[in-house]
Amino acid sequence: MNRITHFIAGQRDAGSSSRSAPVFNPASGEQTAEVVLANVADVARVVAVAKAAQPAWGDASPLRRARVMFKFKELLEKHQQELAALISSEHGKVQGDAFGEVTRGLEVVEFACGIPHLLKGEFSPQVGTGVDSYSLRQPLGVVAGITPFNFPAMVPLWMLPVALACGNAFILKPSERDPSASLMLADLLKEAGLPDGVFNVVHGDQEAVNALLVHDDVNAISFVGSTPIARHIYSTGTAHGKRVQALGGAKNHLVVMPDADLDQAVDALMGAAYGSAGERCMAISVAVAVGDVADALVDKLATRAKALRVGAGTDDKAEMGPLVTRTHLDKVRGYVDAGVADGATLVVDGRALKVPGHEAGFFLGACLFDKVTPEMSLWREEIFGPVLAVVRVPDFDAAVKLIDAHAYGNGVALFTRDGDCAREFVQRVEIGMVGINVPIPVPMAFHSFGGWKQSMFGDHAMHGMEGVRFYTRLKTVTSRWPTGIRAGAEFVMPTLK
Ligand code: NAD
Repeated sequence: MNRITHFIAGQRDAGSSSRSAPVFNPASGEQTAEVVLANVADVARVVAVAKAAQPAWGDASPLRRARVMFKFKELLEKHQQELAALISSEHGKVQGDAFGEVTRGLEVVEFACGIPHLLKGEFSPQVGTGVDSYSLRQPLGVVAGITPFNFPAMVPLWMLPVALACGNAFILKPSERDPSASLMLADLLKEAGLPDGVFNVVHGDQEAVNALLVHDDVNAISFVGSTPIARHIYSTGTAHGKRVQALGGAKNHLVVMPDADLDQAVDALMGAAYGSAGERCMAISVAVAVGDVADALVDKLATRAKALRVGAGTDDKAEMGPLVTRTHLDKVRGYVDAGVADGATLVVDGRALKVPGHEAGFFLGACLFDKVTPEMSLWREEIFGPVLAVVRVPDFDAAVKLIDAHAYGNGVALFTRDGDCAREFVQRVEIGMVGINVPIPVPMAFHSFGGWKQSMFGDHAMHGMEGVRFYTRLKTVTSRWPTGIRAGAEFVMPTLK
């Protein structure tokens, strides 16, 4: 059995814990590896290693740190296909989708290559007579990232390029369900010239996470995962004096206005609802049909959902892969059963799907519900599977009201041809990331990613300038230099003035 270990001080490290967790290939249903789960002593050791390595790295010029990022970018590009295959083998997503995930992560590395420019402070000459004032941003020290299963490369890459480029040491605690991608990132960073100990990977579950949350030498925590855990990370981390950004779950709506190009909206919904088997925090799980668009929308969606090609991530014709684990598959099926019991109309039922040659895989076919209402768990809860719910509303105002009533506020999209309607939507909707005729409005690396309400706890979103601010401390200097050599030579005995 392949044993997946930590990466500490520049090398693989088995740690001292006897606990481990199974890792599966979701397409075959077979266990392929076991991953070690760190204990408190392992976490203490990795923090000590990071703490020892950080000062020299933080002292290196931003230009030198940027050069490591340039090299890292080159290596990621060279190994992108390999990394995508590794992601697919443990997560299940189709390889083309995994390749795209790495591209989105790479863009943050590209952003971090500009760190000398991004760290430039402000300068005000002559704030008083002979007095100047300027600001600088300095690293925090040791920071940690705790990441979810659904983007095993992209989410760590939302964090670590910026954190490292700012001069911090970084400890990654990846998801124990698909842990291998993080080790490949570690190997590539080492090959890029990052000094040992500046980037470390510690595998584990809540024991490792809780040890990081209370450790005095961890100065900041970045978290992405489900809302109950995000809330726990935020409250515990901040109570222990840490800076915390904790991104949580989501329930994203796509509004189809009566004037929208219906085929375009259907294409958008198919990719956004069923891509990556719906296991994306920006997946669309609710289609809001406004006015008389509903019947035609549901008909078109049903035809497409029935024809969706589901297969293993290695099948290049597959549009959707399996779910990540059997437990998760059972949970998603439970939501479909509950939707039927609650009285929603199950237009397409993917529960009976079998993929030939992969009978033990964690597959669920596309499911489409119509006439979903806000009391149903189908609308209230994040399902994180290939289940799309259509809610019918009479008009634009009812659509906005529905969206704003939801506890989550991650992403949203509006499909329309009307500029005034789009502008009003952008102004009013209480959601962090908005798409206009764009189904998955994930901000580019030089902007910042983060939701509102129960989708994010903390003050700084990820990457872009928000990321630079999160991973640095602001120092403001006021300086006056007494008159010196400029006054000329003095021939009398010097005395203090
Ligand atoms: P999760 O919350 O179960 O796990 C996330 C991380 O927290 C993992 O590293 C896990 O080991 C750790 N963890 C789990 N339980 C813990 C506990 N009790 N105490 C301490 N740590 C714990 O999330 P997941 O199932 O891996 O990922 C899916 C979730 O992530 C979804 O809710 C999805 O919406 C969310 N997500 C959000 C975003 C975003 O940007 N808002 C992006 C991706 C995923």
